[in-house]
Amino acid sequence: MAPRFFVGGADTVLAAESDFPLPEPVVRHARVLRLAPGDASTLFDGRGGSHAATLVELGKRHALARIGAHDAAEAEPPFRVTLAQGLAGGDKMDWLIEKAVELGVAAIQPLQASRSVVRLSGERAQKRQAHWQALVQAACEQCGRNRLPAVAEVTNLDTWLARVAPSGNGTRLLLSPRAAYSLPALVAERREALLADGVTLLIGPEGGLAPEEEQAALQAGFTGVSLGPRILRTETAGLACLATLNALLGGF
Ligand code: SAM
Repeated sequence: MAPRFFVGGADTVLAAESDFPLPEPVVRHARVLRLAPGDASTLFDGRGGSHAATLVELGKRHALARIGAHDAAEAEPPFRVTLAQGLAGGDKMDWLIEKAVELGVAAIQPLQASRSVVRLSGERAQKRQAHWQALVQAACEQCGRNRLPAVAEVTNLDTWLARVAPSGNGTRLLLSPRAAYSLPALVAERREALLADGVTLLIGPEGGLAPEEEQAALQAGFTGVSLGPRILRTETAGLACLATLNALLGGF
């Protein structure tokens, strides 16, 4: 497969048969991959579909690609999932964000929960958000998605619950080992709504959500759902859920 590069930006125009100056990070990436003039690549700008392209110049800091035909094909699943993830420590967020993008997540909301071991705010939180967004871009380049899921700013769980509850955001699921409802049972009952309006998955951090946080989520319209009798690590839970939704709703 030709290497894929994201070239999005407010003023990006990918017009067929034109020469497009590649952004500097893409130039660096092309050099790392040892591409040479004449090599094929695929460019996408996040607005839908992708373009075939041929490298015509590659310098140290600049490169030009001749833009070819637009390919409207998309690799999105037929449902929209927002992953609302309690902040996890170490490199777990990096890991799970990359895999969630591969599994078709549409948006990621990092949440500061009371039991999150990592505390992020201010400049550090903004830097992490930018870092995660860059991981999303790399994962889209690698896995063939042309639409970039947005990583929202780190938000306190309470604040987010107050904001998300009135506006809906599709079916809202609280992933909890204590819930009685199983995910396949819920999908069987709400299949059409899940496909039409999407789903928001709320996952606790390593220590889980505090009882009052689970209660607040239920009051905000979330339905408790279990993934079986085993306690999954936080980075496993969202991915297991995404894989199950793909299998049951036609994303695989
Ligand atoms: N002792 C914590 C508890 O009981 O909530 C365990 C937390 S678990 C490591 C982290 C998160 O993964 C949980 O808050 C939940 O969202 C999700 N999770 C783990 N196992 C699950 C299961 N069997 N069913 C549903 N969600 C699960």
